[in-house]
Amino acid sequence: MKKINSKLTILGSGPAGCTAAIYAARSGLNPIMINGSQPGGQLTITTDVENYPGFEDPVLGPDLMQNMIKQAENVGCHTYNEQISEINLEQYPYTLKNNNTTFITESIIIATGASAKWLGLKNEEKFRGHGVSACATCDAFFFKNKKVAVIGGGNTAVEEALFLTKFAKEVILVHRRDQLRAEKILQKRAFSNNKISFLWNSVVVDINGNENPKLVKSISIQSLKDNSISILDVDGIFVAIGHKPNTDLFMNKLELDNEGYLIVNNQVFTNKKGIFAAGDVHDKTFRQAVTAAGFGCMAALEAEKFIESKK
Ligand code: NDP
Repeated sequence: MKKINSKLTILGSGPAGCTAAIYAARSGLNPIMINGSQPGGQLTITTDVENYPGFEDPVLGPDLMQNMIKQAENVGCHTYNEQISEINLEQYPYTLKNNNTTFITESIIIATGASAKWLGLKNEEKFRGHGVSACATCDAFFFKNKKVAVIGGGNTAVEEALFLTKFAKEVILVHRRDQLRAEKILQKRAFSNNKISFLWNSVVVDINGNENPKLVKSISIQSLKDNSISILDVDGIFVAIGHKPNTDLFMNKLELDNEGYLIVNNQVFTNKKGIFAAGDVHDKTFRQAVTAAGFGCMAALEAEKFIESKK
């Protein structure tokens, strides 16, 4: 078993992890970043990114993340394309392990992100990026004057529906009950927006489309009132049924809220000394690449102060 010692270990390599890595490396902490199961994070499953500052033209999500990881490496962060399966936060310094390596570290920045929940339909994965999305902010632009469905009844679904009306000509919100879970103020906005209509007591049971080019054409909807199936013609479907923070590893080890997000104080402090959180793993409000990057920066600056204070 290989043993690697570091002052700072960053878990996750999305915008939060990479930004933390860049700041920590530049302040001489010699950090290591463990890239996790999806190096680069959620942006690697989107196409064009137009809302990350610094790019005159749209940048591909996977390219942006590859560049961020390279930037972190170029300024001195050691990256490992590995995952951690075990973590000991009871003994200091902390240890993180997988089958090959034990990482022993004085501080940790957790930037393991979140994963969108999906419906679990057969064609959902096939059409992802070709009409199926879980991020209106990322992809709404591609549905100018098109007809789209949003699935879900929470804040995310309603916000996504509202955002989509800036581009799409028609937005149909499909919800499994006859009442939205979203906050009243958002509901009011949605109900008064004449581009949005509602399909209540309904669930999506299939996504239908063309093979070549791969494009969504319609969704099959089941009514939960009489079980009848109908076809709704749409160009896109936005799944907004919630996100799941990637915190399984920290259960019973760090404070999590009832949805599984890490609880932080003062933006990035977890309940254990020297352990910080950055990005979607604790932030359920903004969930943007640029805000995650901001949290990564804050976490690295606090980690630096923490390590300095131990000298
Ligand atoms: P929520 O868990 O609040 O809502 C998920 C929605 O999806 C619910 O309406 C739920 O239905 C529906 N749903 C869940 N699973 C399925 C399924 N398998 N099939 C069909 N429908 C399903 O998630 P959100 O992402 O909307 O919000 C997460 C958290 O983030 C919340 O605390 C929210 O308040 C917060 N948030 C805050 C924002 C803000 O303050 N501006 C913006 C966005 C999110 P049902 O209602 O029947 O359970």
